[in-house]
Amino acid sequence: MSKRDYYDVLGVSKGASPEELKKAYRKLAIKYHPDKNPDDKEAEEKFKEAAEAYDVLNNPEKRQQYDQFGHNAPGGFGGGGAGGFSMEDIFSQFGDVFGDNDFFGSFFGGGGGGGRGRASNQRSGNSIRIRLKLSLSEMKNGVEKKVKYRRMVEAEGVKYSECKMCKGSGTIRRVQNTFLGQMATSAACNVCGGMGRNISSKPREANDQGLVAQDFETTVKIPGGVADGMQLSINGLGSYGPAGGQPGDLIVLVEEIEHEDLHRDESNVIYQLWLSFPEAALGSDVEVPTLDGKAKLKIVAGTQPGKVLRLKGKGFPNLNGYGQGDQLIHIQVYVPTKLSSDEKETLLGLQESKNFTPDSKDKTFFDKMKDLF
Ligand SMILES: [Zn+2]
Repeated sequence: MSKRDYYDVLGVSKGASPEELKKAYRKLAIKYHPDKNPDDKEAEEKFKEAAEAYDVLNNPEKRQQYDQFGHNAPGGFGGGGAGGFSMEDIFSQFGDVFGDNDFFGSFFGGGGGGGRGRASNQRSGNSIRIRLKLSLSEMKNGVEKKVKYRRMVEAEGVKYSECKMCKGSGTIRRVQNTFLGQMATSAACNVCGGMGRNISSKPREANDQGLVAQDFETTVKIPGGVADGMQLSINGLGSYGPAGGQPGDLIVLVEEIEHEDLHRDESNVIYQLWLSFPEAALGSDVEVPTLDGKAKLKIVAGTQPGKVLRLKGKGFPNLNGYGQGDQLIHIQVYVPTKLSSDEKETLLGLQESKNFTPDSKDKTFFDKMKDLF
């Protein structure tokens, strides 16, 4: 199905102002709103089409892209996924269009707050955020960590009774006469908050929602490849919702503990290896730290500063499961800053030596050096 022009969809001119766009979108959103057109697939499609057009044209950057390239803009349009917008996306993203005046506010069941979720209008519990410090090796290999935190859980002995307002359904339907005709609206019951029941008795230590604080301990599994600043969300380990609503999530924010010698660069590990001048000139066997213990390394005679050696597969795995980074060893050569008179004597003797002087005519050497940087 080929897509209609977004301006045509909203019925506005190319030069429409943000106000005009909003007005046009509102009009369509009311006309095709699912509450007004129950089980009408075509209306739902129109509703989504309008939301997509508004999403693009209401965003200056996207609008410019669209004006320039149409539907073929790089990256494309349409709510990200192949299926375009879901109804939940529309209600969560464009709530402001509906919520900023009384008519729309009541039309869409109040808006804001817990959102207008279609799947469930139950109140869910709060999510809890914790920080988790991990070493680079833990981030590379993955780890299981015990974490402790405090959350709210349902107190023992809380009793409920069916909500008299909504008779246990959790929603209240209302038929309104508007200038567009009769419309049925459905909103979460404001007495029970959509739960369909209310607390009839509770122990003294519980709060108004029947919850008490609990020190909770659990083990979280961190996959290999995570990075500083990433958040892992674990369903259902947050605080309980009131009156048996769904618990919130546990959100784990990963923080990196700095390693003394090793640094991370995306999926690679970087190590600076300092060689003495004789080691670099004569070659040597050295040991370098890696995230999995020490590794032995052969330094060939005549190794230049700036050379990068690679330990394959010693970096971080990619979280998507494809490939693994390397450890990159950057060679540095230490130039002495304090010299005894004997050492000075020796170096002065070497200064005259042809082998110690870079020869700009030696093309092979300088070409090779270029590749190093
Ligand atoms: Zn109720």
